[in-house]
Amino acid sequence: MGYRQYRAASCTLTAFAMQLYTKITIALILGVVAGLIANALAIDPLARLLIAIEPIGAAWIRLITMVVVPLVFASLIVGTASLGDITKLGRIGSKTIVYYLATTAIAVTIGLVLSNLIRPGSGMSPEALESLRSSYMAEGASRVTLAQDTPGLVDVLMNMIPRNPVAALAAGDMLPIIFFAIFLGAAISALPTERRDHIVGFFDGLNEACMVMIHWIMKLAPYAVFALIGAVIARFGLDVLRSLLVYVVTVLLGLVLHVAITYTAAIKLLARRAPREFFRKIRGVQLIAFSTSSSNATLPLTMETAEEELEIEKEVSSFVLPLGATINMDGTALYQAVATMFIAQVLVGHISLTAQFGIVLTATLASIGAAGVPSAGIVILVVVLEGVLAGSGIDPAAGIALILGVDRILDMCRTAVNVTGDLTAAAVIERSEYEHALRGAGGG
Ligand code: ASP
Repeated sequence: MGYRQYRAASCTLTAFAMQLYTKITIALILGVVAGLIANALAIDPLARLLIAIEPIGAAWIRLITMVVVPLVFASLIVGTASLGDITKLGRIGSKTIVYYLATTAIAVTIGLVLSNLIRPGSGMSPEALESLRSSYMAEGASRVTLAQDTPGLVDVLMNMIPRNPVAALAAGDMLPIIFFAIFLGAAISALPTERRDHIVGFFDGLNEACMVMIHWIMKLAPYAVFALIGAVIARFGLDVLRSLLVYVVTVLLGLVLHVAITYTAAIKLLARRAPREFFRKIRGVQLIAFSTSSSNATLPLTMETAEEELEIEKEVSSFVLPLGATINMDGTALYQAVATMFIAQVLVGHISLTAQFGIVLTATLASIGAAGVPSAGIVILVVVLEGVLAGSGIDPAAGIALILGVDRILDMCRTAVNVTGDLTAAAVIERSEYEHALRGAGGG
C-alpha cells in the first residue's frame, strides 16, 4: 500500500489533525496544571513524579529527531531533482535568504522598540538582582564557556561545504546536508530521464516512508507533551518569574506583535492566504515547537504540515523549511534584543542608539548561528552581549545569570515563533514562485 492509500485508509487528514491537536492541547493543559500544583503547593512527591516521567518526553524527542536527517535528505533531493531548472533553485534560494534576513531584522527592531518603551531593566530591586546573581552565576559562566566554542560566520559558511557528506549525515549537521542534497539533486536532474526517474523514485519512496513514521510518532505526542511540560513547570521557580515579570512580558509582547503584525501581513499580502485559516492549520506545529523547545525536533512535523495541510509545493518546502529551522529564528532574535537591552539597562544603565543599531546587526547574525535546539539562543546571546558590554568591564556571565531562571519558558515561546516564521516563509516563497510562473506564461 502506497503512502497516499495509507493516509486515506487510516483517516481523513483533517480529522487526524484536529483530533491530534485537541489531544496535544489537553495534554499541555494537564501538564501545566500538574506542574503548577506541584510547584506552587510544594507537593514534593508530585514534583518528583513529574520529573521522573520526563524521560518519556525526552525519548519522544529522540524518536522524532531520528526522522529529521533521512526526511530532509530525501525530500530535498526529490525537490531539487524535480525543479527541472537550476536557475529556479538560485531564485528560490536568494528570495528565501532575503526574506529571512528581513523578517529577522523586523523582529529585532520590534524587540528594541518595546525595550525602549517599557524599559524592563529599570525597575529591578537590588535584592532581586543579588538573589539572581547568586543563584545563577555559575551556570551563566558555563554558558559563556559554551559560547566561546561557537564558530564565527566565516567558519559557518565554510563548514556548509561538507568534506565528507556521509559524516555530515551521521552528525546531523543540517547546513552541509542541505548543501550536499541540493548538489546531488541538481546532478540527478541532469541524468537521462530513465536513470533520473529511477533514483528520484527511490528517494520519493524514502520520503513517504518518513511521513508514515511521523504519523506513527505523532500519535505519541500527547503523552510526550504532558511529560515535557509537567517537568518544566514543576522545576520552574515561580519566585524568579516574579522578579523578572516585566522582562518576560516584554519578550512575550514582542513575540505576539511579530506574529500578529509581521506574519499576518506577510500571509495576507505576500502569500495571499487567509491568515486565520493559515494559523489554524499550523497550530499543531506551534504546540510541538512550544513543548520541545526545538525547531529541529519539530522539523518533520513542520514539513509534513507544509505539504499536507498548507499544500505547499515540495520543491519550495523541502528547501525553505530545513534551511529555516537552522538559520531563520525570528523569535530567538527578538528575544536576544530584549534580553540584551534588559541586561544592559540593569547593569550599565543607558544604551546609545549606535549600540542599539549594533544589536540589530549582531542579534540578526547570532540568530542565524544559533542551532535549532533547546537553549541555543541563550548561548549565542553571549556573542551579542559581548558586543554591547565591551568596554563596560561587565562580565557577560553576570548578564546571563540575570535571565537564566526564566529562559526555558521563553525558549518554548520563541521556538513556536521560529517555526511559524519558517512556515510563513514557505507560503510566501511559494506564492512568489507561482506569480513568477504566471508572468512567464503570460510573457511567453
Ligand atoms: N530553541 C530555539 C529553537 O530551536 C532556539 C533558541 O532560541 O534557543 O528554535
